[in-house]
Amino acid sequence: MDIFDRLSVFPRVPLTPLPTPLEFAANLSHFLGGPRIFFKRDDLTALAFGGNKTRKLEFIMADAIEKKADVVVTLGGVQSNWARQTASAARRLGMDVALVLEGEEPEQYQGNLLLDYLMGCDLRFVGRIPQDVEDKEIAGECPITGEVAGEIRAKGRAPYIAPLGGATPLGNLGYVSAAVELERQFSDMGISPQYLALATGTGGTQAGLALGVETLGAKTRVMGLSISRHTRPKEEEISELCNRTAEMLGMKHPRFCADHIDVTYDYVGAGYGVPTEEGIEAIKIVAGTEGIILDPVYSGKAMAGVIDLVRRGVLKKGEDVVFLHTGGAAAGFAYGDTLRSEKRGAE
Ligand SMILES: *Cc1c(COP(=O)(O)O)cnc(C)c1O
Repeated sequence: MDIFDRLSVFPRVPLTPLPTPLEFAANLSHFLGGPRIFFKRDDLTALAFGGNKTRKLEFIMADAIEKKADVVVTLGGVQSNWARQTASAARRLGMDVALVLEGEEPEQYQGNLLLDYLMGCDLRFVGRIPQDVEDKEIAGECPITGEVAGEIRAKGRAPYIAPLGGATPLGNLGYVSAAVELERQFSDMGISPQYLALATGTGGTQAGLALGVETLGAKTRVMGLSISRHTRPKEEEISELCNRTAEMLGMKHPRFCADHIDVTYDYVGAGYGVPTEEGIEAIKIVAGTEGIILDPVYSGKAMAGVIDLVRRGVLKKGEDVVFLHTGGAAAGFAYGDTLRSEKRGAE
């Protein structure tokens, strides 16, 4: 059984037109003077401005439908792309949405939060969530979302808890499938890229891609540029996600260990959600050369990494680098004042 057959066993609800475009960024490549850079435009997926969670949600929401849910409950930051895309998917499928948002309610609703509000979500601001509680949410114990789900169930409704960031084996299938899609595009365009670079948060996207690329026998190296620091090395976590996803697909091979996964932490800056100067420069360079909008939390920091690696000669002329644009630009509106500094990007 090939990977395509294995994927087709899992119910999937179509939420976006696919494939997304794979585009050569001629101006950016010329500006940087290094490798040819291509954008995989997953920012052009559907669900209230799209992003990488859409592909995960095609599998996760299919599960919610199977379980006859009528309210989706999930957790995220106040500017969570995941929460906004989940809300959009739920609405499109005729379900209600309860969002547990980490942080205080801001005076002004902007970016993703504004979109959540417009979609009529039941918004619950819970302040700061301690790391151990968040870890339990990730592990599926759901101390916070479980309580909300219980309250909803008591009212006679059928809640479904969508896992934080969609980073479960089921959600990861979205990016195993994206790897298949990419391989076809590489072959159509006659390219064989050395690198596939992306912003890594929970690592689910990277895990799906790493598994997909490995299964297809492609030589492309999946390079995760982490946008947050963690107590536990991401490489370990992502390799475990790969193995759990492979098991779910009924595959005995490949088996991953941390050594198989590339993650760099050099471009995180002060931490998750805190813009870096290099990230803002990267946003302006890409906007000014390609008219493509990145965001300060994820894709801008990841692109800052790619630009730095080109400038340092790690990514070289003659190579091809694919940058997975994971979306996120909606969050950028909440960072307006920070982004509008006097410094200019590409002149
Ligand atoms: C969630 C997100 C990521 C990270 O994806 P993970 O699968 O959690 O690693 C990257 N970019 C954007 C814009 C996101 O919203």
